Amino acid sequence: MLEKIILDGNLVANDIKEGLKERVVQLKSQGITPCLATVLVGNDPSSATYVKMKGNACARLGIDSRRIHLPETTTTEELIKTINDLNDDETVHGILLQHPVPSQIDERAAFEEISLDKDVDGVTSWGYGQTALGFGVYPSCTPAAILKIMEYYNIETKGKHAVVVGRSPILGKPVSALLLNKNATVTTCHSYTENLPKLVEQADIVIAAVGKPSFIKGDWLKTGAIVLDAGYNPGNIGDVEYESCFEKASAITPVPGGVGPVTISMLLKHTVDSAEKKLAQFV
Ligand code: NAP
Repeated sequence: MLEKIILDGNLVANDIKEGLKERVVQLKSQGITPCLATVLVGNDPSSATYVKMKGNACARLGIDSRRIHLPETTTTEELIKTINDLNDDETVHGILLQHPVPSQIDERAAFEEISLDKDVDGVTSWGYGQTALGFGVYPSCTPAAILKIMEYYNIETKGKHAVVVGRSPILGKPVSALLLNKNATVTTCHSYTENLPKLVEQADIVIAAVGKPSFIKGDWLKTGAIVLDAGYNPGNIGDVEYESCFEKASAITPVPGGVGPVTISMLLKHTVDSAEKKLAQFV
């Protein structure tokens, strides 16, 4: 019987948060309270829940969160103005624009407006580019979380074949770049990829970032593959079919309790990192 490891995201997240507690205390003792500004546009209930969860996670660690909720009818210009105000606000250390925004908004233009030193979710093209070149300061939080889980569980990436299913700017592309920088051999798949099950079958490491519930099946996997499921679909369902993938995998993240909690912890970490950088400018 193959040994199974459940890659416990709550364990990893708690480890990150424990490491942040003292850093927040130190910052506060020097007059700086780390602050994350979240910008939510419109009334999408899932987005509202995510923003609330992030705010609550900040509060538990003593990090300030500034929640800005703009109406569904907000224009690109109005959103950009809000982002610029946050860029100029010395007390804000990280800006998170909750994705997706309503369709009348040019989301890319809004992301690009976030100043690089406050781009704690790696959404700007500068942030992404630096991550891809291997010197990114704040990689996107979900890709960073996936790498953090692998680091925590001592999962080797060097020389391994990683197959990433999905190529979105916030997930598939940056996680592919991070894995490449960690000396994995990376195949990035998307909706035009042919023979996807055959490609997944070659993977030592499978990253599911496709946004379709239970999409990746256990019989696609090589026995002993390591599976990290970033998917989060209604009903707490990941992008892999958990039961069948559990059977074939040697290690797998559950949903919920896998990549999700670590993503939030990486956001907190990046906000604290940014506040420390700000402090360093004064001393
Ligand atoms: P997305 O922007 O919708 O991107 C989905 C990607 O999957 C696209 O690149 C798409 O290809 C590809 N795809 C779609 N159908 C496919 C198919 N049949 N075969 C192969 N590839 C296919 O989604 P996302 O924002 O990256 O999110 C992906 C998943 O991660 C979702 O379940 C989301 O809820 C979850 N997520 C979780 C967290 C977290 O904190 N845990 C954070 C963010 C997202 P094309 O490029 O060709 O369209």
